[in-house]
Amino acid sequence: MAWSERQLAMLREMGVRMFVPVRPSAPAPAPAGPPMAALAPAVPASAEASAATPASAPSAAGSLDWAQLRAAVAACRACRLCESRKQTVFGVGHPHAHWMVIGEAPGAQEDEQGEPFVGAAGQLLDAMLRALDLSRAAQGEPARRVFIANTLKCRPPGNRNPQPDELAACEPFLRRQIELVQPRIILAMGRFAVQSLLRTNEAIGRLRGRVHRYQGVPLVVTYHPAYLLRNLVDKARAWEDLCLAAQVVEQNRTDDATC
Ligand code: SF4
Repeated sequence: MAWSERQLAMLREMGVRMFVPVRPSAPAPAPAGPPMAALAPAVPASAEASAATPASAPSAAGSLDWAQLRAAVAACRACRLCESRKQTVFGVGHPHAHWMVIGEAPGAQEDEQGEPFVGAAGQLLDAMLRALDLSRAAQGEPARRVFIANTLKCRPPGNRNPQPDELAACEPFLRRQIELVQPRIILAMGRFAVQSLLRTNEAIGRLRGRVHRYQGVPLVVTYHPAYLLRNLVDKARAWEDLCLAAQVVEQNRTDDATC
């Protein structure tokens, strides 16, 4: 990949060294683990059979369009996090972006503003994306756009760790978002997002540097920007991860063109 002067300036601003991406190894097989359906919240048979299944039930998300999905998330009370949230944090970006960034859960600022990745961590993420000529803008060329969402749509009180039952309850919303966006690449950021999506307890350090898959979409693992703000040494590794993701997108585009 050839970097423009603007991108190089951005990289210098981020304090990361240049990285020459290497060709990724063959995509890893889908991780072993329980089927997605097994992690969806249990719905009584009577409720499933009812045409009046409330739109706010995450398990009903699979057939919703964007507007219905947004409304279902806003009305959701499927886990205890609904009690302490100020508002749900649905996600932001182009509805058909080629890139999708998935983080963990809203923090205090996200809970206030209703948008994921705001504040200092969001600014760092935006700088990293700009270095690849990507943005979270809702309009524009899909190949240069990112849709950003979290595994949880509501803030855990006090920024405590997400609980497994909360992640399982909320996952159908994220699955539907991915189905609607149909991204070419998913960038999973932070331990809880990574471990939840890949059904693993392995550390990010052991999972990064190769291509995984989620719902058939190539997935690259990296550190959360909030972590990078405290651990400058890992910024360069995060940049390597972005370069790997960019290379996967580029490779798939080339493959599509030659088909
Ligand atoms: S975190 Fe997800 S499942 Fe829980 S209340 Fe919020 S939207 Fe519903």
